[in-house]
Amino acid sequence: MINSQFSQSPLINSDIKIAIIGGGVAGSTIALRFAELGIDTTLIEKGQSLVNGPPFCHLHAGGNLYREISDQQCLTLLEQSIDSIKVYPHSINYRPTVIALPKTDHGEVADLLPRLQKISQHYAKLIAKDLSNKVLGEPENYFLSFDRNALERLKSKELPKQAKCNEDWLVAFAQQVDLDKLKYPVLLVQEYGWSAFRLAAIASIAIDKLPRCHLKLNSKVLNITQLVNNEKWRVSYADDLSGSKINDDFDYIINACGFKSGEIDDMLQAKRQRMVEFKAAYVAHWPQCEGLWPEVVFYGERGTPNGMAQLTPYQNGYFQLHGMTQDITLFDKGLVASNDESAQPLLAKRFINKIDQDWPLTLINDRTLGSIEHLARYITNFSQASVAGKPMFGAQQIPGDDATLRAADVSFHGKHYARTEIVKASSALAAADAILQNLQNVGLVSKEQLGEYVQKHYFPVTLECTETEVTNLAVKLACQRNYPEELAKNFM
Ligand SMILES: Cc1cc2nc3c(=O)[nH]c(=O)nc-3n(C[C@H](O)[C@H](O)[C@H](O)COP(=O)(O)OP(=O)(O)OC[C@H]3O[C@@H](n4cnc5c(N)ncnc54)[C@H](O)[C@@H]3O)c2cc1C
Repeated sequence: MINSQFSQSPLINSDIKIAIIGGGVAGSTIALRFAELGIDTTLIEKGQSLVNGPPFCHLHAGGNLYREISDQQCLTLLEQSIDSIKVYPHSINYRPTVIALPKTDHGEVADLLPRLQKISQHYAKLIAKDLSNKVLGEPENYFLSFDRNALERLKSKELPKQAKCNEDWLVAFAQQVDLDKLKYPVLLVQEYGWSAFRLAAIASIAIDKLPRCHLKLNSKVLNITQLVNNEKWRVSYADDLSGSKINDDFDYIINACGFKSGEIDDMLQAKRQRMVEFKAAYVAHWPQCEGLWPEVVFYGERGTPNGMAQLTPYQNGYFQLHGMTQDITLFDKGLVASNDESAQPLLAKRFINKIDQDWPLTLINDRTLGSIEHLARYITNFSQASVAGKPMFGAQQIPGDDATLRAADVSFHGKHYARTEIVKASSALAAADAILQNLQNVGLVSKEQLGEYVQKHYFPVTLECTETEVTNLAVKLACQRNYPEELAKNFM
């Protein structure tokens, strides 16, 4: 159904044509941002559906999973996450994250506090600037500390069915986690869950309603050439369903191909240094689990056997697990870089096979059971959990040569070509904003036309999606992709 009010009055009346290659979270978000304003946008995705690339489950509203990144990256991730909640409220699983330092970890909780204070102060400032930024609760509750005594007291509390206060999120934790293994205090941070299935559903529903977004699924871009006066691009793509090859001309191209971005760069001889990393998370079922679980992160040194363990809860005892060890989430030679000849880093064939085909069953079992064991070091009863499906995996790009970079958005080459380079899904909106600004800078859209909307997020059609329609489509997508439907349902 087309939104009639919108279709009568696009904010921008321009005849420029934009191609976005890649319908992951970056490409879909840009398509929504532009088409909502009335810019003619063609979104070309080689897969069968949108937002079906590497997974995401955590909204990094403050970057607290990464001790190694700069404070500035944390503040950027906070701002971008707040914007993402405001644009995609029905994709968020509203529950906090508990950060615990095991005694085996080299760090101290006190080392984390200055940054957490900085983030909560910045959050307070954002609210003072605009009250609609208050999407993570009260700034003074952005992070809370619980000492051993507080957790011991929670052990005797009845398991809450619904969280009425922040403390309720720690009752099951206090009862099930081996508290002797931790340093204190334990921290509760307002970093929520983020459902890729629900975001895929929102993008699909809204794009369907936007007359200025032309979605081409099952369509792989094969070649791009610059037309004579260098002002236009000819994009050739294969339509898998009809078997035909289509040529279409555009004024501006956005490369949003995720870990394959280097292939498009190479078509245009646009040099770029980047890395690509293959990683996986695992899906487990713990039917005996009781009570409310927050996300739980046990810190640890990446790449060692004590690497961070991350437990992400869903409905009915389903959990997604990360373990930052070489045997669980990370892979030997899973991180590769581009070179002078090609902007596309080459992953070994065994990783490409995992992305393009099914994983061998033994590998699914071994790695998922390894992730369960990794968590059971802290939550003994978690060893009752079993393998609940195929892993959630993929490759992500990291621009430049700093493998720890987490907040990145977009870079430009020449006059009418942009490439998104997001590392975290929450950077997608920032990429869209920067490209919109670039359209204005290169004179394709006038300042008068864009007005305040170059900065202001305008998503009336996207925000019209109802929770029920999002859940219905998200569940359908999870089933189509062979994952338990619980992963697509609202957490609460
Ligand atoms: C295991 C794992 C866990 C993660 N967890 C989180 C998390 O909790 N939170 C978070 O924020 N981030 C997380 N990430 C990172 C997140 O997944 C990525 O940042 C995000 O998915 C990147 O989105 P994208 O749109 O840039 O790329 P993609 O999602 O990869 O989308 C690119 C699209 O381009 C399409 N494409 C490629 N080539 C062509 C072509 N020639 N023609 C047409 N289409 C093409 C692909 O089919 C794909 O759909 C995780 C990543 C991994 C691997």
